[in-house]
Amino acid sequence: DALRSLVESRIRDVQDFPTPGILFKDIGPLLADPEAFAAIVADGARRHTGRVDFVAGIEARGFIFGAGLAHAMGVGFIPVRKAGKLPGPTVEVSYDLEYGQARIAVQEGAVAPGSRIVVVDDVLATGGTAAAACALLELVGAEIVGLDVVMELAALGGRSALVGREVYSLTVA
Ligand code: IMP
Repeated sequence: DALRSLVESRIRDVQDFPTPGILFKDIGPLLADPEAFAAIVADGARRHTGRVDFVAGIEARGFIFGAGLAHAMGVGFIPVRKAGKLPGPTVEVSYDLEYGQARIAVQEGAVAPGSRIVVVDDVLATGGTAAAACALLELVGAEIVGLDVVMELAALGGRSALVGREVYSLTVA
């Protein structure tokens, strides 16, 4: 549809970034287009008709779309950050990357138990980051309503890391 084509036209393919062999999807042009950004946020706010208590955004680009969505829905925003960035006490989980491990954190007490949370990121690749973010938020008592991403890289199989979760991708590459 029109929104999908608009968003696709505003995502730039960058070969060999950040390392050789990687095709990076650059959302810079999308953020620079106020109509495209507003339409993405409005689409998310329209889709979530049930009770939502918070939107959580995954560092760093998930903050941008997530904060926009939280504002549009009139709910609070929770940053899921790389470990070591948030003042404590925090709760953290580790997850595997292609090479090595990563660790993400939320502040303890940021989420009241039973809070219904929509998790937002820009790109779903292998799904490791999103799966860890959902697990972390559940660890602190949240109920995950679903994961919203602007673009899903289907070949990387992210959905298999998120079986049983509601995953919405605006565009699929
Ligand atoms: P995953 O854990 O492999 O699914 O990687 C997803 C995370 O890496 C997300 O937080 C994305 O922001 C980032 N990411 C992976 N590939 C891309 C890309 O091509 N463009 C922008 N971000 C990406």
